[in-house]
Amino acid sequence: MTPTVQGKKRRNIMSKIKCIGVLTSGGDSPGMNAAVRAVVRTGIYNGLKVMGIRRGYNGLIHGEIEEMDARAVSDIMQKGGTILHTARSMEFMTPEGREKAVSMAKIFEIDGVVVIGGDGSFRGARELSRLGIPTIGLPGTIDNDIACSEYTIGFDTAVNTALDSINKLRDTVASHERCSVIEVMGRNAGYIALYCGIAGGAEAISIPEKPLKTDDVIKTIIEARNRGKNRYIIVVAEGVGGSAELAKAIEEQTGVETRATILGHVQRGGSPSARDRIVASLMGAKATELLIQGVGNRIVAMKHNKIVDYDIEEALQMKKSIEDYMYKLSKILSI
Ligand code: ADP
Repeated sequence: MTPTVQGKKRRNIMSKIKCIGVLTSGGDSPGMNAAVRAVVRTGIYNGLKVMGIRRGYNGLIHGEIEEMDARAVSDIMQKGGTILHTARSMEFMTPEGREKAVSMAKIFEIDGVVVIGGDGSFRGARELSRLGIPTIGLPGTIDNDIACSEYTIGFDTAVNTALDSINKLRDTVASHERCSVIEVMGRNAGYIALYCGIAGGAEAISIPEKPLKTDDVIKTIIEARNRGKNRYIIVVAEGVGGSAELAKAIEEQTGVETRATILGHVQRGGSPSARDRIVASLMGAKATELLIQGVGNRIVAMKHNKIVDYDIEEALQMKKSIEDYMYKLSKILSI
């Protein structure tokens, strides 16, 4: 679609960027659509042509590329997943694959790309930038495991989805005076477990950063029982795993009937929360503005609740750890 007259007026005449592409890559997360919408509309508002690239880097290699107008992103903000589809591309991991992607970008006259995904996708974005296509990464993952950013698009929705299940399990656990071991997602990070554990009033939370031994969990349950509790919620992060074995050990050693529930991929879906839609909108707009300024090889992130950006190399070398205070608080509040 041709840019609006209003959009044309707004084009930064200093910018060499006339056409940008947007793709989603790696694991999906709720809010990716809101980010795509923000990129498309901020781009068009500023007089750019915006191309939607389907199926991550695979789509860039194979030319699954189509122009998106403002209406192409109508009615998508409330939808989970990604309308552009996502993929993992082995071909893009090879120099030949990346050369093909760059040639295809040139055929479609794409001057810059926004990649919405996780760390792996950012490594791809760094390679594209190195090959002369300014590329900006946006953190889209439910796991909140991007070191340079306090927050990743999809985290809040995933925590709320897990929390909804914890609330429901709590009802039945309380009725039967049981123990429920609930395994939540998060890959190698414990953010989802810690946040929904605190919000769900868990008796114990086992995360990769601070994994609990089976004996520690059993001791916690016995102590809680001695303090008058008669139902127990234990949240285990996927990065720790072993929830079925833990449930069995709890039942055998405490006599409390215990079930394990692995929540799995439901946590990736669902309509994004207001927070995810807003952060995605802010980050999508920021990524587009950076490209308009001719800036590439950056990751858009959140720091002290503000939207900032970092060099990709620098961002990939950063480390992130869970807040000790949050962990301590989870213990204090579970007495
Ligand atoms: P996520 O972005 O969620 O961390 P992956 O780690 O699977 O997901 O990465 C998504 C895609 O990014 C990969 O399938 C691949 O196409 C691309 N990618 C990952 N690492 C690299 C790399 N070192 N060089 C080029 N592309 C990469």
